[in-house]
Amino acid sequence: MNQLTTTLLLLVVICPMWLSAQNWDREKQDPVATEVWAPRPPKVTPGTGTAAPSDAIVLFDGTSFNNWEHADGSPVKWKLEDGAMTVVGGTSAIQTKMGFGSVQLHVEWRSPAEVKGEGQGRGNSGIFLMGKYELQVLDSYESQTYANGQAGSIYKQSPPLVNPTKGPGEWQTYDIIFMAPVFGERGQLLIPGSITVLLNGVLVQNHHIIVGPTEYKGFPQYLAHPTRLPLALQDHGNPVSFRNIWVREL
Ligand code: MG
Repeated sequence: MNQLTTTLLLLVVICPMWLSAQNWDREKQDPVATEVWAPRPPKVTPGTGTAAPSDAIVLFDGTSFNNWEHADGSPVKWKLEDGAMTVVGGTSAIQTKMGFGSVQLHVEWRSPAEVKGEGQGRGNSGIFLMGKYELQVLDSYESQTYANGQAGSIYKQSPPLVNPTKGPGEWQTYDIIFMAPVFGERGQLLIPGSITVLLNGVLVQNHHIIVGPTEYKGFPQYLAHPTRLPLALQDHGNPVSFRNIWVREL
């Protein structure tokens, strides 16, 4: 009998016997033994309406750009009015002054009520996790574009599962759970990034494994980067608005 046969025999014969013995023993066990009482999960007051949960960092409450800047560190040149910020085309992307790794992120966005352009030119912006991984913002309510470039897509990597977008000019919500990639000491990828996204409360990305930073051309490739980086909002030249942005670090 060779080693492989012996191993298989053990798995097929011994394991079921052992499991069966465990189940027989289960009746004698104390249910208290599997109860976990400490540590207690911290108490959090959930958000209601536009209010963030009590342990969230509010990145934008509609009143100021205090937590934001352009990549060169200059003050934000986007428009601030009626509790929202709106992209001013050509001023460049904005990013948080703080860096973040893995997060739960809530963002509300609105493509322009006045419909202009087609495909990638209609209400385009984007949420760049760690400034590198784009969750697309686009008016793809009726406008056609490539599936892995429409709203709810991880740009050029993963189409949304469905298209639950609202029409132009309507506020929409993203609720995102992003797990940052993990790199080893020599810069090698240990764990790829992943993302789960609800768009208007509907699941559009289900623990999708990100294959690298967003690229417009060619296939992505991971390059080691710091564990915390700013979160960025894209200037794609269209007057897309944002409001009520909060984040919980994971
Ligand atoms: Mg975009």
